Amino acid sequence: MDFADIAITFDKLESTSARLEMTDILAEFFSRCPAKELRSIIYLSQGKLHPDFYGVELGMADKLVLKAISLTSGKPDAVVEELWLKTGDPGQVAEQLITKKKQMTLFSEPLTLDRVIKSLTLIETAEGKDSQDRKMKHLASLLHDSGPLEARYLCRIVTGRMRVGASTMTILDALAITYATKESRPEIERAFNVTCDLGLVAETLATDGMEGISKIKVTVGDPVKVMLAERLPSIAEVVEKMGGECAIEYKYDGIRAQVHIGKDSVKIYSRRLEDLTPNFPDIAEAVKAHFKGTEAIIEGECVAVDSETGYMQSFQEVTHRRRKHGMSDAVKEIPVRIFMFDILYVDGKDMTNVPYLQRREAIKEWFDISDNVQMSTMRIVHSVQEAEDFFEDAVNARCEGVMAKSIADTSIYRAGSRGFLWIKYKKDYQESLTDSFDLTVVGAFYGMGKRAGKYGALLMATYDPETGRYGTVCKLGTGFDDAFLDNLPNLLDMYKSPEIPQSLDAKMQPDVWFQPAVVLEVVAAEITLSPNHTAGLGVLKEDTGIGIRFPRFTGRVRDDKGPDQCTTVQEIIEMYEMQSHDSDGLS
Ligand code: ATP
Repeated sequence: MDFADIAITFDKLESTSARLEMTDILAEFFSRCPAKELRSIIYLSQGKLHPDFYGVELGMADKLVLKAISLTSGKPDAVVEELWLKTGDPGQVAEQLITKKKQMTLFSEPLTLDRVIKSLTLIETAEGKDSQDRKMKHLASLLHDSGPLEARYLCRIVTGRMRVGASTMTILDALAITYATKESRPEIERAFNVTCDLGLVAETLATDGMEGISKIKVTVGDPVKVMLAERLPSIAEVVEKMGGECAIEYKYDGIRAQVHIGKDSVKIYSRRLEDLTPNFPDIAEAVKAHFKGTEAIIEGECVAVDSETGYMQSFQEVTHRRRKHGMSDAVKEIPVRIFMFDILYVDGKDMTNVPYLQRREAIKEWFDISDNVQMSTMRIVHSVQEAEDFFEDAVNARCEGVMAKSIADTSIYRAGSRGFLWIKYKKDYQESLTDSFDLTVVGAFYGMGKRAGKYGALLMATYDPETGRYGTVCKLGTGFDDAFLDNLPNLLDMYKSPEIPQSLDAKMQPDVWFQPAVVLEVVAAEITLSPNHTAGLGVLKEDTGIGIRFPRFTGRVRDDKGPDQCTTVQEIIEMYEMQSHDSDGLS
C-alpha cells in the first residue's frame, strides 16, 4: 500500500473530533487495506512499530529530525529551526518545507508502507558509532520521496508525537463494522482485553474472521488488561450489594504487578503495560522460584516494607524503587513484598473464566508462600459487623482499605472492566464524601506573586471512554510544594501543545496547553455541577458539566496510569450521585 494513502487517512481522522465520523473513515479505509498490512498500519496510527507493551520508542530527537528536513528540503538550518520554534512540531515544519512530491527519478523509490516500516525498523534498531547520523539519513531518504502530508506523519511518528485522535474503542468499532458485525463487537473487545495487542486482533479478524477471534486466549508474555473495582460509600452498602456475603481482602497500597512466568523468563507488567521487571528483579526471581509449574500469569500488589520493623510502607516508598538507578542497592534499601491476589493462567489453563474462590485455591495450590511472596489476606464475611471488623484490621495493618470480591459462581476475572464483582472501600471515604480522583493535566496558568513566571495552577481533565474524549473538571492550584512547582516544566513541557489538544473539550483557556499524558492524584471537598467545565457536559443538566470544588494535589503523581486510565466521567457522575444521596441523609 502507498504510504500517501495512509497519510491521507490519518489527516482525515485528525480533522474531526466526532467518534462516529472517525469510525466511518476507518471502516472505509480498512475495507481497502490488504489483511497482511493491517497490523503495521494499526501500530503506526499509534506512532509505533509494535504493540504498546513492547515499550520500544522510535524516540528521535527533534534536532536530528530538523537536520533531515534541512537536508531534504535544501533549506538552511536557521530557517528550519525558526519554524520549529514557532510551531513546536517537527511534523508541521516538514509539511511546510517539503512542498511537493518530487518527480520520480532514477534515485527515487516509491514510498510504500513496506519501505516505511523497513526504514523505521532500521531507525529503531540503530546502535553504536554513527547511529545518530544513520538514523537521520534513513529519515531523510524517506522524506526525499514524500509529499508534505507523508512528511508530516513520518516526522511525528519518529518523534513520538503521533496523535490522530482515534481511540482504541473507535478502532475496535471500525474493525467490527468492516470484518464482522456490530453484534460481534464485545467478542472483539474481549480478544483485545486479553492480549492488549490491537494489531494482532485486527490481523486475526481480517484473516480468519470471528473464528480466529474466538481462538485468541490469554497468553504468557501478552499483558492482560486489568480488572478494576467499583466503589461504594459505606461498608454496609458494600455487603448489601454483594448479597449479604462476600470475600474481603486487604487493599494494599503499592504497585499492581501482573507477573508473567514463562518457561525461561519472567516479566512483570504495570497496569499501564510498562515493563516493571527491571524495578523488581527480586520479586520476579522469587515468584518464579516459588511456582511449582512451568507457566503462569498472576497478579499481586508490590508493597515496600520497612527493613527493620517489617511494617508495610506507603505507596511513595515503593515508587522510589522505580526511580532508583543502582537497582542492587535499591533492592537492599527498599525491601518489597508481593501480595498475590489473582491468577489468570496456569500451565495451559485460562483461569479468567474460573470463579474467584477457585482461582484463589489455585494460587495456594501452585505457589509456595514465603516472606516476600505472600497471598493477600482474605476473609469470607457474612455480616456488616464482620466486614467492619476486617476493615479495622486492614487499616491497623497499614492498608488503604479493603477490596470486597464476589464469591458467586459468576465471579470471573473480567479483563479490562470495572464492575461490582470487586468493590473497594478506603479509609479516606470516612473523612470525605468522595474517593480521590486521578486526573490528567491539560493546561497550565502562569502564577502571580511568589509563583510569577512559573506554572501556578493546572487545568485538570478526566476521560470519557464512551466518547474517547477528555473534559475539564477543575483548576488545581493547591497541594504543591516549591520543589514540585519548580519541577513542573520537567514533568509537563514535553507534552506542550500549540493549540487545544484535539481530544479535549474545554471552555477555560489556560496560558499553555498540554496533550493529556501526566496523571495526578487529587482530593476534593465536593463534586458540583459547573458551567465552566466540560466533563459530562449536558449529562446531568443542559450546557453544564461536572466540576470538583476545592481540589488539592495529594503529592502522588500516578505514573502507573496513562491518561485514558483517569477516573472516568462516568465514575465522577456516580460519585456525585452517591454524594447527593449521602447529603440527603439517606445513607
Ligand atoms: P486506586 O487508585 O484506588 O488504587 P485504581 O483505579 O488504581 O484505584 P481500582 O480498581 O479502583 O484501581 O482499585 C484496585 C487497585 O487496588 C488495583 O489496581 C490494585 O493495584 C490495588 N489492590 C490492592 N490490594 C488489592 C487486592 N487485594 N485485590 C485487588 N486489587 C488490589
